[in-house]
Amino acid sequence: MLRLTDGGADWWMRAGMEYPVVLVFFLAAIFIFGSCLGSFLNVCIWRMPLGESIADAPSHCTSCGSEIRWYDNIPIVSYLVLRGRCRHCGAPYSCRYLVVEALTGTLFALIFVKVGLVRQPPETLAVYWPMTLLCITTAWIDAEHRIIPDATTYPAMFLGMAAAVLFPSIWGENTGRISAPVLAALSGVLPALFLALFALAGRRIARREVLGWGDVKFIAATGILLGVPGALFTLLAGSLTGTFYGIGFATARRRPLRRTSIAFGPFLAGAALVWIFAGETLLRGYLHFAVPGVLAQ
Ligand SMILES: [Zn+2]
Repeated sequence: MLRLTDGGADWWMRAGMEYPVVLVFFLAAIFIFGSCLGSFLNVCIWRMPLGESIADAPSHCTSCGSEIRWYDNIPIVSYLVLRGRCRHCGAPYSCRYLVVEALTGTLFALIFVKVGLVRQPPETLAVYWPMTLLCITTAWIDAEHRIIPDATTYPAMFLGMAAAVLFPSIWGENTGRISAPVLAALSGVLPALFLALFALAGRRIARREVLGWGDVKFIAATGILLGVPGALFTLLAGSLTGTFYGIGFATARRRPLRRTSIAFGPFLAGAALVWIFAGETLLRGYLHFAVPGVLAQ
């Protein structure tokens, strides 16, 4: 199982984080790093649902087609300087660009602080940060287009497997470069298999697709990155909140629930982020109730 606490012990102190100057420097650097990746996510969010390649063709204005120069492509800053408009034609850009960049930077910095404060090994960031990227893209693309593209879930799975090979200690103190990837792979396959069976059963009973294969692949990626407890929590909390939202939505619109379908992606993504921030607290609380005495020592 993915290690939840105490491995890096005092790396936070050794890195000098108790000094405000050092902490602020790290947070600023991580925020900038995160917002640059957020800028890349914006490209993914725009191009992936359209089937465009993210590699070729530099960024261009979607209105007049003029190429966006590097100095107009600086995360957050350029958006504010140009007041969210194209330099050439003045067409307004979606505020999504600013929100995704700021959100990615902020979440990266907050996750760094969380990992430091609960004394998780710093290598944990190698799974938490990619998971954050997957969550933001999934939430946005699924909400807008009702799909979770393979182009987001497959790279996330790859990054999770790579993290297990490079930092096997994330998966336990005695795991090696063979056992950690095996654990990671199993942690992806098992929850996804469970969800796939559920999807097939749902299709037979409801006679329509109750959830997409994109959701199943998202859960597989979650398992590879966060472990089985994280994937199960994401599945449970995500589908519960999504279902409640669906019931509320159907009631408000006076539409029969059977004909209402909602995008689960944003709810799964939200649940996974909750797990990143509070997973060990939730797991401990659960074990406390489910298996009394297990934490007594
Ligand atoms: Zn333009």
